Amino acid sequence: MRIYGHRLGGRYAMELAHVRETAPLAARLVEREMGERVGSVEVAVSCTDGARDLLLAAHQAVLGTRNKPRWRPAAALAHSTLSTSGTLIVIEAKPHRGDLGLLDETLVHEFVHAVQFNRGEARSGMVRHLRNNYGLGDLAWAECRAANKQVARNEREAEGMERLATRLSKAVA
Ligand SMILES: [Zn+2]
Repeated sequence: MRIYGHRLGGRYAMELAHVRETAPLAARLVEREMGERVGSVEVAVSCTDGARDLLLAAHQAVLGTRNKPRWRPAAALAHSTLSTSGTLIVIEAKPHRGDLGLLDETLVHEFVHAVQFNRGEARSGMVRHLRNNYGLGDLAWAECRAANKQVARNEREAEGMERLATRLSKAVA
């Protein structure tokens, strides 16, 4: 699993080191608990602007375009999205500063998204959504509505698994 910092000052060395140590464990824990695979995952730790760079580059590579998105990602604890090889997880460093317990929860949460992206038709649906956001295709209203419901279901499932994070801190300690 590739794990790296992007546009990250030295002040986040502890958080990056923690992610390097914990992300592979979090992935295994989620896989065992869910009985599903996370697939090929890359994990970056970055600032908000850096996260936008990484998401933009991943989306442009997946779609084969130089277009810019119509909607930029909102600031968040982390973002999971498609990459050409599987899933890209970008963790925003600032809201996790000094809070390794929160970092564990975020890792578990995002690996659940990686599992979700690996399921059946999930990837092709997400590509259609990305194409819409990058001005390469339109989504029917019904498809938009169904996708929003799916996003909400995915969020609930990921939030429900965050409790695994407590096992993670014990595994590392
Ligand atoms: Zn989420």
